[in-house]
Amino acid sequence: MEKCQVKALPGDGRLVSVFGPEEIAACVRGMAAKIDACYGEEPLVAVCVLKGACIFFSDLVRCLQNRNLELEFIRIASYGAATVSSGEVLFSKDVEIDIRDKHVLLVEDIVDSGRSMRFVLDNFAARGPRSLRVAALVNKTGRREREVTVDFTGFSLDSGFLVGYGLDYAERYRALPGICELVPE
Ligand code: 5GP
Ligand code: MG
Repeated sequence: MEKCQVKALPGDGRLVSVFGPEEIAACVRGMAAKIDACYGEEPLVAVCVLKGACIFFSDLVRCLQNRNLELEFIRIASYGAATVSSGEVLFSKDVEIDIRDKHVLLVEDIVDSGRSMRFVLDNFAARGPRSLRVAALVNKTGRREREVTVDFTGFSLDSGFLVGYGLDYAERYRALPGICELVPE
């Protein structure tokens, strides 16, 4: 794999390019076409899971043709080590509308153990949406602990800690235009 253009800060490890900006753009366009085929012009609430999905979400919603689209944002806080999800989750920001009887699409950066998404799905399902689906930029299948159906998947990977295109390591590297793996040295 070619090296990322940008070097990691000393002590963070090594950045190795995984998906470049053009590859990501093509993937996002393809996903948007599938989402449009699924919902057409039905009213749809797209929910960005902050912060990691912010850039993916911005690109994705701008590719959607649906003019009946509302944008909402949630933030979930999970406690534990930086690179492994502990599974203890809560909302530190919730949607600002009632989602009852609405089509809801959760837009997440990565589904890994599935614990975060399972929590959000269970919580949202209890609010009585008309439908509830998940779009994830990366579906990491190697460490799944909770059953989560990812309805729209960008990239599937087994493992590796990713940064860039919204994804961080200790809040760094979110603004990289591509997705890199941060490899410990
Ligand atoms: P899960 O609860 O599915 O184990 O974890 C999901 C969340 O952990 C993701 O939404 C993401 O915020 C974070 N996460 C999982 N894998 C990675 C990764 O490779 N890189 C980064 N930056 N965050 C990750
Ligand atoms: Mg996330």
